[in-house]
Amino acid sequence: MVCHTINPRLFPEQLVYVINNAQDKAIFFDKTFLSIVSNIRDRLETVEEFVLMSEPDEEIAAQFPGLLFYEEFLQRGTPNANWPEIAENQASSLCYTSGTTGNPKGVLYSHRSTVLHALVAAQPDALNLSARDVVMPVVPMFHVNAWGVPYITAMVGAKLVLPGPGLDGQSLVKLIDSESVTIALGVPTIWQGLLSALDELGSSAKTLKRTVIGGSACPPSMMSEFRGKYGVDVVHAWGMTETSPIGTVNALLAKHDTLLEGERNKIRESQGRPPYGVQLKIVGEDGHQLPEDGVAQGNLRIRGHWVVADYFGFEPNQTLEEDGWFETGDVASINDDGFMTIRDRSKDIIKSGGEWISTVELEGIAMGHSAINEAAVVAASHDKWDERPILLAVKIPDANITEEELLAHYQGKVAKWQTPDRVIFVEALPRNATGKVLKNKLRSEYGEVLVNRPAS
Ligand code: AMP
Repeated sequence: MVCHTINPRLFPEQLVYVINNAQDKAIFFDKTFLSIVSNIRDRLETVEEFVLMSEPDEEIAAQFPGLLFYEEFLQRGTPNANWPEIAENQASSLCYTSGTTGNPKGVLYSHRSTVLHALVAAQPDALNLSARDVVMPVVPMFHVNAWGVPYITAMVGAKLVLPGPGLDGQSLVKLIDSESVTIALGVPTIWQGLLSALDELGSSAKTLKRTVIGGSACPPSMMSEFRGKYGVDVVHAWGMTETSPIGTVNALLAKHDTLLEGERNKIRESQGRPPYGVQLKIVGEDGHQLPEDGVAQGNLRIRGHWVVADYFGFEPNQTLEEDGWFETGDVASINDDGFMTIRDRSKDIIKSGGEWISTVELEGIAMGHSAINEAAVVAASHDKWDERPILLAVKIPDANITEEELLAHYQGKVAKWQTPDRVIFVEALPRNATGKVLKNKLRSEYGEVLVNRPAS
């Protein structure tokens, strides 16, 4: 069978869609999700077994006819079953993309791609994991199989610590300290909570050596806080559901040792290099490859042994470009050492008077201000320039900062024409289940705030 990890935060219609699309036969779920599964049960076309991961409970059994409890399910197995021979190209797992527009798309991983990905991910210039490590992925299983970490830790024999539902900063700090976690992995929003909790609890996360941060761009201020205040190395990584996920990991080269700390930190901010097994290139609108000079920006493409070939259930040969390249939807630059920097999602980048403005860079600057907790920059329509950046910012509790003060913070960091036209302070940013800001939602809410304003 194939293990399909499901995002329980999808809308019920999307849950029904992915379960039917995947043709799932058995659903294993936690008590927390009992009502979700009960509500959609009648619309599931292929599911034959519902297995609750808990002790038998008569009350629950009465509410849910046909429900199996995990121990009961195990008892039905054959004690002496032989492990079957499995062809390496056979499917082993299935994850769906987060699907901010339209239905999520399935990416099917084979035993071969999973093993190759794990072999490479464990290497020193990648995640650098060994049997000595205690590894905590603070990443849901449905997000690219928890970034493939359970497979990597099984391969190297590292201890695996799973946080369950306790994703708030305080629970994570306690878990790091009690389990002596050496390496933790997650998206930037998770670490924001952890950093505040370290402060509140007065913990220094003594055992933690590294955090691997990906999923969204890691703000430079977060890297310096981890490194400067707690001596924790931040390893920036980039990947996608379609790439198993590792596409690049930032490990410095020997030649960087002689640089000043500030220069090294600048390199660490990039998303890093592709490991052996995947290749990157950037192309212009016409599909021609652009130079790897650290300046040219283009559409990022990737190909390799653990990159999707076709989305699950789609017509074959529709997904990849010529010569097996996958179009990532990201805009990036690559320097002459192969270090790649994500400038934006192509649909989020701002085109102001024909010039491109990177929202990632503007967000990183805002989050570097001590009064700002979260920031998102989106395009707003503009009569003269077509689009101009506006900044949605969440203050840290009790912080006092005005729009003018935050805009002044951009001086000397970016050109004046790149500075946002407006700052709007908000209570929270809308995010999906994998921590990504829902920029289409922000655009539909705030995209017209500059219209009919005097041209600047
Ligand atoms: P998902 O398949 O949901 O993990 O989304 C993949 C997308 O997340 C990529 O195409 C990027 O746009 C974004 N992403 C992942 N890692 C990073 C990173 N380190 N910096 C910036 N964006 C990232």
